[in-house]
Amino acid sequence: MASSASSGTIIDLRRVSRCYGQGESEVVALADASLAIDQGEFVAVVGPSGSGKSTLLSLISGIDRPTSGEVWVTGRRIDALTENQLARWRRRAVGIVFQFFQLLPMLTALENVLLPMEINGFEAGPARERARTLLAQVGLTGRARHLPSELSGGEQQRVAIARALANDPPLILADEPTGNLDEATGSEIFELLAMMPARGKTVVLVTHDQALAARAGRIVPMHNGRIAPAGGWQPDRSSLRPSLNDLSTW
Ligand code: ADP
Repeated sequence: MASSASSGTIIDLRRVSRCYGQGESEVVALADASLAIDQGEFVAVVGPSGSGKSTLLSLISGIDRPTSGEVWVTGRRIDALTENQLARWRRRAVGIVFQFFQLLPMLTALENVLLPMEINGFEAGPARERARTLLAQVGLTGRARHLPSELSGGEQQRVAIARALANDPPLILADEPTGNLDEATGSEIFELLAMMPARGKTVVLVTHDQALAARAGRIVPMHNGRIAPAGGWQPDRSSLRPSLNDLSTW
């Protein structure tokens, strides 16, 4: 079995770049990024729009592939997997929470949580029981038979978190999960995600919300496709690197 940087490392990006287009129209969405995240960490990725945050998450989930560099997640080099291997790996290893929930509108809350387990061949009876337990854990007892359209935004996001946990993945990725919620509801959703490390999960959260990010275990700032070095960017006169003032714009 391949090894990652250390036994506790669950995400290990090694000099990863992702470029779109060629020549003068080339866009460098991620530039030579290296990042290690340990199991059980709760990490907030922050940065202005277009700084590469979604690209980073897509590479970690294997939805996208790097132009160069290596992406190691759960001890596997996922950029070297075939599409089939990736799909199978992702269904077990990663739960994803989206800004706009992305629940299936014709399925009840319970059925939305059941779906990933059915896809993974989970036995029907125990799967239903697990889905009910997960909905209870996110505070949705009594809402199992409701359709998404009958739930508030915060409740829909709770269903989405239960769904992300369905196959008990070690890694939860959340892309602006509070971006479509009011402040109080967003804070509740953040708290739910913040409880995941106590369950042994690693959480990587992209957010524009500085107050929420400050409550994460670690902040990873991004700017122009680059990840801030450990210890942060220093104020710089060369203007090649972003200044601390730039970072305050997120
Ligand atoms: P963020 O999530 O921080 O807003 P993104 O990762 O979405 O940033 O985008 C980073 C950069 O890559 C942006 O300049 C964006 O326009 C560019 N980009 C993202 N996806 C594509 C694509 N499919 N084709 C071309 N450029 C892209």
